[in-house]
This record gives sequence, C-alpha cells and structure tokens, in this order.
Amino acid sequence: LKLANVDGRLALVRADRAIDVATASGGRLPSDPAELMASWEAIRAWEGGLADGVAGTPLGDAPLGPPVVNPSQVFGIALNYKEHADEIVADAPDRPVAPQTFTKFPSCLAGPHDDLVLPSESVDWEVELVVVIGRACNRVAAASAWSHVAGLTVGQDVSERVVQMRPPVPQFSLGKSFPGFGPIGPLLVTPDELDDPDDLELGCAVNGEVVQLGRTSQLIFSVPELIEQLSSIVTLRPGDLIFTGTPGGVGVARSPQRFLAPGDELSSWVEGIGTMVSRCTAPAPALA
Ligand code: ZN
Repeated sequence: LKLANVDGRLALVRADRAIDVATASGGRLPSDPAELMASWEAIRAWEGGLADGVAGTPLGDAPLGPPVVNPSQVFGIALNYKEHADEIVADAPDRPVAPQTFTKFPSCLAGPHDDLVLPSESVDWEVELVVVIGRACNRVAAASAWSHVAGLTVGQDVSERVVQMRPPVPQFSLGKSFPGFGPIGPLLVTPDELDDPDDLELGCAVNGEVVQLGRTSQLIFSVPELIEQLSSIVTLRPGDLIFTGTPGGVGVARSPQRFLAPGDELSSWVEGIGTMVSRCTAPAPALA
C-alpha cells in the first residue's frame, strides 16, 4: 500500500497513478489526510479488495503535501549511524546506552517538493528514513515492533547549526524546527511493499552532487530497537513520526564546512519509497 497527499486529498498510489481515496470508495473513506490514521484499518481493508485497473491520474507533477499532516509527536534520533557519529563527536561510542532523542516540533513539517526557506547561512541537510507509527503502543518489544508501524517515508531533518549548537547547551529541537525544516514524502509506503524494510539505501544530493549515501542496515539502533527504546518511556500514538537518524556526509562536518544556499536543489531519497526535491530560497523580508 502506497499513499500520498495530493493537493490536500488522500490518494492511493498504484503504478505511478494517484487514485483519490474518497472518490474511489464512494465517499466511505475520508479525503482529508488529517483523518488518515483514524481510518487506517478501513483504508487497508478497502485497498486490499480494490480491483486492478481503477482509474487514476498521473502522479507526475501533482502538488504533494506531507503524507502525515498532524502527528502528535515527532521524534528525532541523533548520531544513529557510526559514520555520522564519528564525523560529529570525537570518540563516539559504537553504541550509546540509549538513542539520543530530540523532537522536531510538528509545525516544521512540509511537503516533499515544497521550497525550503533558509533563515540563515548555516542550514544543513540530513536525509533520514522516517517511521510512521500505526498503533498506539507502550513498552513494545523489538521483536514485535514492526507490527506497530503503519509505514515508512523519506524525511529531511533540516538543521540550523548555529541555533542547534548555541551554548551553553545544544538546542536541537529549536534548531531543527524552523518552518519547512521537516519535509516528508513523497509517499507513505507500508513495510510489506519492501523486500527488506531493515536494509534500504538512502541518500541526498545538492545540485546533483551526492553528499550522503548509506543503508538503513547501518543504523546503530534499528527501527525495531528505536520503537522498543522510545516506547519503554513514551506512549507512541498512530501517526507519530520517528526521524531515525542520518548517515555520514552532513555539511557541518565537512572541511571546509558547507551549507545550503538560495538556489540550491536538495534531492533526498530512500530506496523503494521515492525522492523529494526541495528548492532552497532566501526568506522574504521580516514583517515590520
Ligand atoms: Zn537528524
């Protein structure tokens, strides 16, 4: 099952065609992406019985919103690939005691092709696999964690490094929550669509130059382990997002450092899910 938010309406995606969920279900299912998770089981059951050949429109250049619009919680995991941990922290442990966790405030979410407005000259990229929780859960064991996942999508954990690292203590959550700093999409893909949801290539490119490339099999805390660890403390709810961490190659760790500039095109992909393309722009003048 692959779903998209096409211009503010829920769409099923088959063979690169978008099938409007509300229309194709005769109005039994919602059109509003905000109702996706409340209708999740009904959508899955309907889709399973839907005949092939239902008419759709080419996904092509359709205006896409984020496939999940209203998560109650958005978790981010820092330093969850060894190569990235080593480029950021001297003597990074092979495996920390627990995943280093912050939040991206949900107001930062954006569509997969939205412009990325740069508030400063210190904005960095972090391509990530994003998990969408499907069922409320607390104290889930890793062995059964995948059954609590609705789907996966691509995310960029866009980061303003000055705010993020401002002393005396880092402010990860603020530095990663400017408007548009959480593009997700283009599709929400259920794990059963993927040959191995624990081993997906992911990467990103700036103006066509690949700057990050990794595989989710290199995650220090895998998707099931993240769900076990987070749910050992927090109750996870349907629609909650987990940005699972970024592989090596971020701009702040380069020599010389490199950040996004107006006009840059940032492409981000995860194997089997799709590619997001964000055009960087300068901010409009502040309100007087
Ligand atoms: Zn990140």
